[in-house]
Amino acid sequence: MLPPGATIGMLGGGQLGRMSLLAGRKLGYHFVVLDPGGQAAPAASVADAVIAAPFDDKAALDELARRTDRITLEFENIPKGTLAHLEQTVAVCPGRSVLEVCQHRLKEKSFLRDNGFPCVPFASISSVDELRAAVAELGFPSVLKTADSGYDGKGQIKLSESTDLADAWTKLGEVPCVLEKWITFENEFSVVCARNTAGEEQAYPVFENEHCNHILDTTIWPARICPDLEAEAQALALAITRELQAVGLITVELFLTQGGKWIVNELAPRPHNSGHVTLDAAVTSQFEQHIRAVAGLPLGAPDALSAAVMVNLLGDRWPAGGQPDWKVLLEEPRAKLHLYGKAEARPGRKMGHFTMLAPELPDALEKAKSLDKSLTL
Ligand code: ADP
Ligand code: MG
Repeated sequence: MLPPGATIGMLGGGQLGRMSLLAGRKLGYHFVVLDPGGQAAPAASVADAVIAAPFDDKAALDELARRTDRITLEFENIPKGTLAHLEQTVAVCPGRSVLEVCQHRLKEKSFLRDNGFPCVPFASISSVDELRAAVAELGFPSVLKTADSGYDGKGQIKLSESTDLADAWTKLGEVPCVLEKWITFENEFSVVCARNTAGEEQAYPVFENEHCNHILDTTIWPARICPDLEAEAQALALAITRELQAVGLITVELFLTQGGKWIVNELAPRPHNSGHVTLDAAVTSQFEQHIRAVAGLPLGAPDALSAAVMVNLLGDRWPAGGQPDWKVLLEEPRAKLHLYGKAEARPGRKMGHFTMLAPELPDALEKAKSLDKSLTL
C-alpha cells in the first residue's frame, strides 16, 4: 500500500487528471503531472509540480519516475514505448498490458470476442478492398473507425449505401481501421469498475448516457433499468476488468439492444466522463476510487447518495472572448458547477459540466434540461 503523503505521477493533465488530483490531494497524496501542454494543462494548477514534455521524452520520463512513488494515467493514447520505459524503474497502474488492449480498437474487440464477452460484430481493415469485402459481410449502416487515437467520435465515419467507400478510407487517412456493424440500441450505458493492487473490486451502479454528435451530452444516474439488467451489466464489466488484471479504473461502455441484451462498445482504462456524476452524488467519487485503487488503499463504497443528472458543457456554448452567464445555474441550490480551467473554448471541447441533484430522478432530469436550455446561447 502506498500511504497518504506519497507522490503519484500522472501521465496527462486534462480534466480527468485534474479531478483525480483534487480527490487525491484530499487524501494527502502529492502529484507530479507530465503533459506536453505544461502549465496550460487543466491539472497543472492543482499539481505539486508539472513536467512539460512530450510523452516519448525519455529524460522527462526518467525525471517523472525519479520524483514519484507510483505512476498512473488519465488517458489511454500514450505511446507504446512510454510505459515500457517507465516500468523499468517504477510501477505504472494500469500497466502496459492493459493499455495495449484499450488503446487499439482491433486489439480491444479481439480481446472481447476471444474471451467470450458480447461485442459489436467487426472486421479488421487495412485496404479499400478489405473495406469493400467487409461491408459486403456486415452490411449498411456500419461505421469505420481508425484503430487507434480516436476519441469523442473523432476518427470515425458512418457508412451507408450512398457512401463512397474509397473516399471514406481516404478521409480517415488510409490507416489501419475497424469496420463495425451499426447497432440499433435502446440506449447507451456505462459501468465504471475499480480494481486495486490487492485484487479487491467494485462496480458503480450503471450510468445511462445520452450522446449528441457522438459526444457524451447527459448522464442519468442511477440508470433507468431493472435490477436484473443492472446486475448483469455490473457482472459483465467486473469480469472484463478481472480478465484484464487491471489496477485502477476500467470503464465499460455498453449498448442495450432492443432485445434486452448487453453489447460492449468500448473500454477505457481510466475515469470516464459518465462517472463525473459521482463527484456530487456518490459515497466515493470515481476520482477518489481511481487514486485508492492505484495506491492500493481499500476501495470506497460506490453507492449513489442521490439521484443525479450530469450535463456536459462544451466550448460551443462559450461566446467569443467570454463565458456563459452562470447566474441561473448558480442560483439553483441543488446544481453543482464544475469548470476545468481551460483558457480557450473550441466547439466540441469539454470545458466543464454541471450536476443536478434531487431526491427523485424525474425531478433532477427535468431541472437539468431546463438549466441546460438556460445556458444555451
Ligand atoms: P469514442 O472513442 O469516440 O467514444 P465510440 O466507439 O464510443 O468512440 O463511438 C462514439 C459514439 O458513436 C458511441 O457512444 C455511439 O453513440 C456511436 N457509435 C459508435 N459505434 C457504434 C456502433 N457500432 N453502433 C451504433 N452506434 C455507435
Ligand atoms: Mg466511446
